[in-house]
Amino acid sequence: MVDTEKIKNAVNLLLEGIGEDASRPGLIETPDRIANMYREIFEGMSEDPYEHLQKTFPIDGNSMVIEKDITFYSMCEHHMLPFFGRAHIGYIPNGKIVGLSKLARTVEVFSRRLQIQENMTEQIAAALLEYITPAGVIVVTEAEHLCMTMRGVKKPGSATVAIVKKGVFQGNTALCEDFLRMI
Ligand code: ZN
Repeated sequence: MVDTEKIKNAVNLLLEGIGEDASRPGLIETPDRIANMYREIFEGMSEDPYEHLQKTFPIDGNSMVIEKDITFYSMCEHHMLPFFGRAHIGYIPNGKIVGLSKLARTVEVFSRRLQIQENMTEQIAAALLEYITPAGVIVVTEAEHLCMTMRGVKKPGSATVAIVKKGVFQGNTALCEDFLRMI
């Protein structure tokens, strides 16, 4: 759970640390604002993907289900700066599916935490595999990392792509190509 007092104290120290006057009018409410904001952007820490994936629907057939362009915002755990972009999910049902909005909810559970893009992508795929038990799942995330574009190597607009394949997507190039063509 988010400890508002600790965040406020930390932000005050941070402001002092960078040489700011934490008591000037523009900053006086900043610690409060950041504490409230963190409550929201790290909400995924207290959520379990099961909440969103427990309700499934039976389905005949095994055509690929694709949900693409799911916008996400996350925070890089190395710099505590945002990385953000889009996630694309594909899976081959094995008798059951979930509502499409639940795929976006699952992305939020894992993006609203301190993250590494590769781990986030893996965690989304692992949760879908566990709760929908599909024949296979593939997750692609594309993101811009502010820690790379506003500082450091400074390559604005550059995208980092992570791909995780599980089940029948592993080693099945044709199936992966079908998915990649669709997104
Ligand atoms: Zn970073």
